[in-house]
Amino acid sequence: MKVAIVGGGVSGITLSILLADFFDVTVFEKNNRILKKLLVTGNGRCNFSNEIMTRENFHGNEKFLDEFIKSADLRAGENFLNSIGIVSTTDERGRKYPMSLQANSVVDAYLSAVSEKNISIRLDTAVEDIAVKNNKFIINHDYASPFDICILAPGSMSYPQFGTDGTSYKLATNLNHRKTRIVPGITSLISDIPFLKELKGVKIDGELSFNFDGKIYSYTGDILFTENGISGNTVFESSSIILDKKINSVVLDFIPNISEDDLMDMLNERKTNFPKRKVSWILNGIIHKKLANVILKILNLDINKDLNELTESDFKNISRLIKNFNVNVLSGGSWKQSQVTVGGIDSSDLDINFQSKFIKNLFMVGEYLDIYGDCGGYNITFALISAIRVCEFLRRKYAGTIS
Ligand SMILES: Cc1cc2nc3c(=O)[nH]c(=O)nc-3n(C[C@H](O)[C@H](O)[C@H](O)COP(=O)(O)OP(=O)(O)OC[C@H]3O[C@@H](n4cnc5c(N)ncnc54)[C@H](O)[C@@H]3O)c2cc1C
Repeated sequence: MKVAIVGGGVSGITLSILLADFFDVTVFEKNNRILKKLLVTGNGRCNFSNEIMTRENFHGNEKFLDEFIKSADLRAGENFLNSIGIVSTTDERGRKYPMSLQANSVVDAYLSAVSEKNISIRLDTAVEDIAVKNNKFIINHDYASPFDICILAPGSMSYPQFGTDGTSYKLATNLNHRKTRIVPGITSLISDIPFLKELKGVKIDGELSFNFDGKIYSYTGDILFTENGISGNTVFESSSIILDKKINSVVLDFIPNISEDDLMDMLNERKTNFPKRKVSWILNGIIHKKLANVILKILNLDINKDLNELTESDFKNISRLIKNFNVNVLSGGSWKQSQVTVGGIDSSDLDINFQSKFIKNLFMVGEYLDIYGDCGGYNITFALISAIRVCEFLRRKYAGTIS
């Protein structure tokens, strides 16, 4: 049986390796090489899995995920990578990488595994049209070479510079599958923070939190002020959910390990000990100087006054603002710098083996779908485990007919 795989990314190439012993496999890749995006993942280190791996790390179509994950082995992706020769190491935050800490060693292991199998890879070949005729798939009008099975693994809209520019959604929608709203994920947040220009480049170790559906979500770590909003690990980790759930504002705490009351006491003590120092000095050494200046500006405090002129209510306002700095979320960062796409082809149109409910032997996997993982190795994991599920299903289904 002939299998066409559209997309030579991590899900498509994993499928090709797993299916090649049983089927006649062709991969179509629009770039001049496969696995281009994988090279830049995890800051060039490829964070492919995580020590913590639960249902809660995956989002999007919750009903589909409940069903799929109930019967999925969330470690199968990592085990597959080990099986093609990747040795893993885990960092202090539980993130798993190749021991070399080089994404190119993962790509090299894949290339070796591909070369050991009989897989036809057609580079520089964008699939632009798929027609279904007599239960066969006709790719790019090539009626002479129909396929029995077609698997769509063309990724999403993120990092269009690597070939994933969203144009491939039409392959599924032209075949009557729905697409959900898409927004950038694992990205920066655009905001109208007052005096942002003055904060640009300031990096703090803080907490970002927001409320959704009666639950408080909070993330701690670095937060970086950019020219048009906030970025940094904490923002990357929280942005997919913020943008998915249309959260309009988040709260930053610039000193998460000190309570508002303790901060007020600290400021009062400064007033007592240094009554003649200027207001501009009040936050010196407590938070970043540029941030301190902006806090005082937002509160409209006269920085040339003496500290002993500040009132209890001034201290309250300063402490409150440092601990509860409201940031309006206008949008996510650009597609060019968003690591994943939130939303995609509606997985409600697929069964639990990722097969179309409308067209037999048409499958869709990976980031193409309306499912995304947390930052920390979960998106590569989803690409892998969705590919593995399709492979297991096809091998089971055609066990009697494969050569
Ligand atoms: C900068 C960056 C860092 C990341 N870091 C991590 C990380 O550390 N950990 C993690 O878990 N996730 C990370 N991700 C996300 C992860 O890379 C993706 O979720 C994952 O690669 C998705 O795999 P995929 O196979 O579904 O799609 P992709 O890997 O995007 O592959 C899709 C392939 O299909 C090809 N294609 C598209 N359309 C067509 C067409 N019409 N015809 C032929 N070929 C086509 C594309 O060129 C591409 O090669 C990162 C993403 C980026 C951009």
